[in-house]
Amino acid sequence: ILKVQGVSKAFGEQQVLQPISFEVEPGERICILGPSGCGKSTLLQMVAGLLRADAGEIEIAGVKVEHGRHFIPPEKRPLNMVFQDYALWPHMTVRHNIEYGMKRRKVPKPDMHNRLERLQSLLKLEGLMDRMPAQCSGGQQQRVGIARALATEPKLLLMDEPLSNLDVKLRTDMRGELARLLGELSIATLYVTHDRMEAFTVADRILVLRGGTIDQLGRPQELFEQPASPWVAQLMGYHN
Ligand code: ATP
Ligand code: MG
Repeated sequence: ILKVQGVSKAFGEQQVLQPISFEVEPGERICILGPSGCGKSTLLQMVAGLLRADAGEIEIAGVKVEHGRHFIPPEKRPLNMVFQDYALWPHMTVRHNIEYGMKRRKVPKPDMHNRLERLQSLLKLEGLMDRMPAQCSGGQQQRVGIARALATEPKLLLMDEPLSNLDVKLRTDMRGELARLLGELSIATLYVTHDRMEAFTVADRILVLRGGTIDQLGRPQELFEQPASPWVAQLMGYHN
């Protein structure tokens, strides 16, 4: 569903991403783990089309969205995203924010209703549906953002620390349910997190990014049993 080939990015003198390549299979959930500043958000923004790559190719669902001068803008890419600064519509209620994308895609009324019910309970939005975003806390807004991104059941979903504003309890409750729903709906996901346990719960495969290169990409158990570097070992919780 996603092919990233030789994609690199520099900001001025700073080479943030070396040319990196990987593929995501349909329905597959990949968690990106790595230290602050290693280029995780930069990578997601290039896949989304919010940032141009310096070199390389990106292909989504068989369509080249970036290669050389050819560039398909974010609104035309077949994906949804949950980024921290990707805000809700301030003039629409929570319900309308979530419904908006489904209406645009002409999802039939009964399906829309079912999805709303389900997302409302999964993301614990009961009682918030008729509020305006400004009347919701940061964590509540974050959950609305996730609901909105899931509602249209995209083939590819980009999530940049989607649970970061939630307290520990809610975060632990939600990561399992979110993973289950992504699996059921077969939504391929690139999921950035700092939290190793979250990655273990959510990921089919984990991509460890460090210093602008991929340290390792593999199933959680592979990383755990055969870490490719001392850094991965440390990330997996080994203490030397
Ligand atoms: P974090 O875990 O803290 O969110 P990250 O892995 O998402 O970190 P990025 O946001 O991708 O890191 O940033 C990678 C590097 O690129 C950082 O050193 C950052 O300062 C730099 N950078 C990011 N965006 C820009 C920009 N627009 N202009 C200049 N430098 C930038
Ligand atoms: Mg980031």
